[in-house]
Amino acid sequence: MKLNNDKALVVFSGGQDSTTCMFHALKHYKEVELVTFNYGQRHALEITVAQNIAEEQGLKHHVLDMSLLSQLSPNALTDHTMAIEEGNIPNTFVPARNLLFMSFAAALAYQIGAKHIITGVCETDFSGYPDCRDIFIKSLNVTVNLAMDENFVIHTPLMWLDKKETWQLADELGQLDYVRNNTLTCYEGIMADGCGECPSCQLRNAGFTAYLAERGAK
Ligand SMILES: [Zn+2]
Repeated sequence: MKLNNDKALVVFSGGQDSTTCMFHALKHYKEVELVTFNYGQRHALEITVAQNIAEEQGLKHHVLDMSLLSQLSPNALTDHTMAIEEGNIPNTFVPARNLLFMSFAAALAYQIGAKHIITGVCETDFSGYPDCRDIFIKSLNVTVNLAMDENFVIHTPLMWLDKKETWQLADELGQLDYVRNNTLTCYEGIMADGCGECPSCQLRNAGFTAYLAERGAK
């Protein structure tokens, strides 16, 4: 199968980071498709939000059933009775979740003829997930290429950006308001600016405030 070098597959959750990656991809690639993993997220709304954004942007959207993950690790993301706790490794941790997701993304990229795979993983606000580290992504890129005898390029445009810089990127792409108002990052399942209290909202909102302050100062 001949790959179309201009086609990109974005790993897409409907959150701030992956939505910014989607707009980044739309700027750089002729053809963009999205993939969302359904693994029994704490909020089923996440899937709906992702579907709505894909529809609004007129993009082909693949939703893959990864519900088997809940068998591997009952935890705060999938067990709705548990509270989210902070620590070195958050208890939202599903072992090797990103390894599994990225492997499925690569298999899908093969099927749809996409050479480029884009993910919003980031080391800067290091969440404690070892399979979100740059070194892991580079290793996985080699592994999936060997596994399928292909030349995929895994792109991580947010890897070294903090939240403030991710907002800046959305702004540079002309999508600051869209990303702010149409994405879901909050652990409580509240759209846009969210609950303001959970760790995810605190990170997102602090970055937004810092970015606006910096932009206003210029
Ligand atoms: Zn929240």
